[in-house]
Amino acid sequence: MASKDVCSVKDCIEPSYKSISFDEASKVFGGDVIGKRRVRLCKRHWKEYKKATKRDRRLERWRWG
Ligand SMILES: [Zn+2]
Repeated sequence: MASKDVCSVKDCIEPSYKSISFDEASKVFGGDVIGKRRVRLCKRHWKEYKKATKRDRRLERWRWG
């Protein structure tokens, strides 16, 4: 099969922008992410991922104050 890199999130057909581990992705997208060890995210889902993981890291809040 020709390798056409698209986003690994279910129903998303946007081109891949970043590659992250499946574990990391499933923390944010749960069962909606399809893959094994590595998954690909499009720009939009990458931003969503960044946003969601940032929210988790409350300890880093001091950086913004
Ligand atoms: Zn996507």
